[in-house]
Amino acid sequence: MRALADIDVVGVVGAGTMGNGIAQVAATAGYEVTMRDIEPEYVERGLDSIDDSLARLDEKGRLDDAPEAIRDRITGTTDLDALAGADVVVEAAVEDLAVKREIFADLDAVTDDDVVLATNTSTLSITAVASATDRASDVVGLHFMNPVPIMDGVEVVVGEHTTDAVVDFAHAFAEDLGKETWEADDKPGFVTNRILMPWINEGVRAYDEGVADKEDIDRGMKLGTNVPMGPLELADHIGLDVVVNASETLYDELGDRYKPAYLLKRKVEAGDLGKKTGRGFYEYE
Ligand code: NAD
Repeated sequence: MRALADIDVVGVVGAGTMGNGIAQVAATAGYEVTMRDIEPEYVERGLDSIDDSLARLDEKGRLDDAPEAIRDRITGTTDLDALAGADVVVEAAVEDLAVKREIFADLDAVTDDDVVLATNTSTLSITAVASATDRASDVVGLHFMNPVPIMDGVEVVVGEHTTDAVVDFAHAFAEDLGKETWEADDKPGFVTNRILMPWINEGVRAYDEGVADKEDIDRGMKLGTNVPMGPLELADHIGLDVVVNASETLYDELGDRYKPAYLLKRKVEAGDLGKKTGRGFYEYE
């Protein structure tokens, strides 16, 4: 396994919400980054998001380096072979097991044998992703939180065959990116989504069953339990489709208590996905 001191180039798979955030924090920490997506326009969109995010952080005086210098360390590409030079890879492509298994089989072929391969999956089995490679011992979950440049925490998820050395590396690497970590076994939802998804779904059911209006559900949970967002606001922030998808994966594995709330599914069917479409439980500009 390649030691942290020997890491110069970080490979990132996917330039979406999470991938571009991970690329940004890696470049901010001083690494060279190769960020790969499947279409040039997705790569460009990811790079534009990074530019916007760096500009905002710079305005607030939260960067030690010039934004241009950080940005210069990031190369966007659609070329899979460009990841051959990576010393560690973090995958943040779509939440689909078949897609992730294909990506990991490719990464296994393209990267050097001693390169750790991490997945940012929210709900899928690390072990099932890892078994698409011939080096499951080097595959680990690195579950960053959204938005990556702002959120302090990263969940390290240990697959069936992940070695202790790789787990230690994952913690050290995330800390080097300025994050704090905790560790979870490869069980559905790990720590965060296992607890968060039923919490959100129960908030939606409480609203649907008329326990309180939506503002009071969110205010009640914020003021009553000291969380920064209530369940309906948070669902809108994450994306209602993402919540339904994660809940369904957990429901398949863990049963009834993870069943997605009916109202969530109806809103997704209506195309009201939350902030990203301008309407979920609330309306957005
Ligand atoms: P997203 O849809 O914003 O981005 C996914 C990107 O992956 C897209 O740009 C897509 O084109 C790209 N992609 C698809 N197939 C690819 C391939 N073969 N190679 C390279 N790129 C490919 O999704 P996201 O929200 O960034 O989520 C990415 C991962 O992170 C998922 O596994 C998700 O569960 C996880 N995650 C998401 C959040 C969140 O709040 N959004 C939080 C934690 C973890």
